[in-house]
Amino acid sequence: MIFEQIFDSINIGIVILDRDLKVYGWNRWMEVHSGINKEKIKGKQIFDVFPNLNTPKFIRGCKSVFTLGSFCAFSPRLHHYLFPFKKTGYSNQRFEYMQQSCRMGPIRDENNEIKYLFIYVEDVTELACREQIIHEMNLRDGLTGVFNRKFMGERLKKEFSRYKRYGGVFSIIMFDIDYFKKVNDTYGHLCGDFILKSVSSKVVSLIRDIDCMFRYGGEEFCCLLPETEIDPARVVAERLREEIALQENIFEGNTIKVTMSLGVAVVEELDDSYERLLQRADEALYKAKAEGRNRVVVSG
Ligand code: GH3
Ligand code: MG
Ligand code: MG
Repeated sequence: MIFEQIFDSINIGIVILDRDLKVYGWNRWMEVHSGINKEKIKGKQIFDVFPNLNTPKFIRGCKSVFTLGSFCAFSPRLHHYLFPFKKTGYSNQRFEYMQQSCRMGPIRDENNEIKYLFIYVEDVTELACREQIIHEMNLRDGLTGVFNRKFMGERLKKEFSRYKRYGGVFSIIMFDIDYFKKVNDTYGHLCGDFILKSVSSKVVSLIRDIDCMFRYGGEEFCCLLPETEIDPARVVAERLREEIALQENIFEGNTIKVTMSLGVAVVEELDDSYERLLQRADEALYKAKAEGRNRVVVSG
């Protein structure tokens, strides 16, 4: 009676299964989140109600609890959840289902025999959300919000390995704002920052969802265009150049326009690393600067 009160008021889910994996115990928390009453589920095989639990890992866990008396953990990172409970509210924006940290272990009788196993289920959705936000922040540049250079390396490396293994194509555009030092010198550093943000959000709005924009350095950026041959990549670069040149950036009453120079390169059989591809795009960008700026140059 006393234990039942704790069992039903505690803020975690508790499930007790017998050796046939039939439900013996189901606390109030489980009722609330599953919408299934204790009376309804008691005596039922857990897999009949939650077929998603019928996995080798779960079955192995149950077996080792009953045969060895061991404990078994199901981390939210690996499993996300055991019991698919839909989440409502804030967390729902990131995860469709409640993220759970679960643990399974033996329950022994007076003779020290394992008759049941328990599973406790903890809702860790908020924690998982926070972790995800921090993880995403680590990938992004603090000023402009586009991806940072560190992530660019990881992303390009992946794209390059995929290309080497499966073929296909991708292009990159490297670009740099022209005479940016002049903007800082004339209007101040804060205005320079404003222009960097303004250029970044414009470029992000112009590229496709599957494309990625990175801040490579101060006022130098890179776009990765998956599944894109050199000609369409050049068209994209040309559009970026045009739109940025037309954009009026208004800062503290001043209207400032900037232009950029762009270098475009498509991945090639001869590239032995993604760094080589970057180098080719950078050389094209350097050429665009040398030829007078505010232009697109294609590598090769
Ligand atoms: P070019 O046409 O040859 O590219 O000339 P530039 O003046 O743009 O080239 P340079 O690379 O010499 O100057 C880049 C300037 O960008 C220098 C630096 O002060 C400025 N810069 C770099 N990062 C930031 C930043 O985060 N905010 C601001 N406001 N300025 C930055
Ligand atoms: Mg520059
Ligand atoms: Mg520069």
